Amino acid sequence: MNGTLGGTNSDFVPVLGLSKAQGEELLEKLEAGETLTVTVAVEGAEVSESTSHNVIATKKPDKEKDSGQIVIVGAHHDSVEGAPGANDDASGTATTLELARVLSDIPNDTELRFITFGAEENGLLGSYAYVDTLTEDEIGRTVGMFQLDMVGSRDAGKLTMFTVDGKANIVTDLGSGVGARLSEKVNYGKEGRSDHVPFSEVGVPAALFIHSPTEPWYHTPEDTIDKISKAKLQEVAEIVGAAVYLIAHEDTPPVKKTKAGPKKGFFNQFESSQQETE
Ligand SMILES: [Zn+2]
Repeated sequence: MNGTLGGTNSDFVPVLGLSKAQGEELLEKLEAGETLTVTVAVEGAEVSESTSHNVIATKKPDKEKDSGQIVIVGAHHDSVEGAPGANDDASGTATTLELARVLSDIPNDTELRFITFGAEENGLLGSYAYVDTLTEDEIGRTVGMFQLDMVGSRDAGKLTMFTVDGKANIVTDLGSGVGARLSEKVNYGKEGRSDHVPFSEVGVPAALFIHSPTEPWYHTPEDTIDKISKAKLQEVAEIVGAAVYLIAHEDTPPVKKTKAGPKKGFFNQFESSQQETE
């Protein structure tokens, strides 16, 4: 909960967390007809400024074949206090690193940007700060943003793609098209709450890749590496990696930055060009 007991802030309602047992005790008294007055003593609180960082790796396109397009793969490297963050979001950070490694030597006509954001859990601060640095021209040329957040829990549900408006876009179309070929169809739905939001707000087609429903260890001290499934990490890496490859490889046509996604036959074209190179 991003509530605050600090200074006045019109964006937040003051929020206090307490245990279920404490809540039930209060509820019992209320139900018994008691009028309750609650006071809160805050100890050791401080208001201070700290610095967070985004980590950005860019692979420029081949100069002669530059399509002018940009595609972004992202995750967040911070975690909440008390949670080790193996799935949220070391899983997405590791997958982003691996995709950067795998895609580092493809001949690309599209600029690739691999970014891990800081301060996501404090309100998407890193991704908002990054989007703020983009020029109108860069935003116009960015055809897709793939956000990987919680992509490795053995105890979570199926891989799902979420867009801010709940509608399909180029990212979800590529994700479901590739997913259907590699493993199974990937469904999409409506959800914000991760670093795809600031991109979506400026008009970049963006989606969050996550397993849904989430695991019970979400934001707890139990979010540890022993609950990470290598098979799930691999599935996500292959689907997102192949989707990015389809946009970025020199041998595949540039994509249209439309909400409708690639035209019919886009995947067939890729198949035939792949056969030729084989
Ligand atoms: Zn997260």
